[in-house]
Amino acid sequence: MAEKNAPSGSVAKLAKLRQNYQAAKAQVQTLGYVLSGTVQKRQYRCGKPNCHCAKGLLHGPYYQWTRKISGKTVNVNLDPASAEQVKAWIQNNRKLRQLCHRLERTSLAVLEASKIMRHS
Ligand SMILES: [Zn+2]
Repeated sequence: MAEKNAPSGSVAKLAKLRQNYQAAKAQVQTLGYVLSGTVQKRQYRCGKPNCHCAKGLLHGPYYQWTRKISGKTVNVNLDPASAEQVKAWIQNNRKLRQLCHRLERTSLAVLEASKIMRHS
């Protein structure tokens, strides 16, 4: 980039943006596995009048992981430990998307800063 001819303010700005970009990339690198979808805890009444659930002690909890595969909704039942893991990986995916936005925003800011330099 043509940073040599830039005013010192732009150089500092670009350095800061580059730092911000590197920081976001470093965070992407430390991120664990990523999954999409949602995990829901379900408890229910089976409807049998003599069952304990009729008196308030519901069946479950069961954990259901819902996601879309090629436009179709797919449900998978999970045990509690797997549910925790899947939830954490879904959370990682959210973080990854935030980081992608940040990388994109920073790239745009770098472009803008470079433009200012060329026009000044
Ligand atoms: Zn029941």
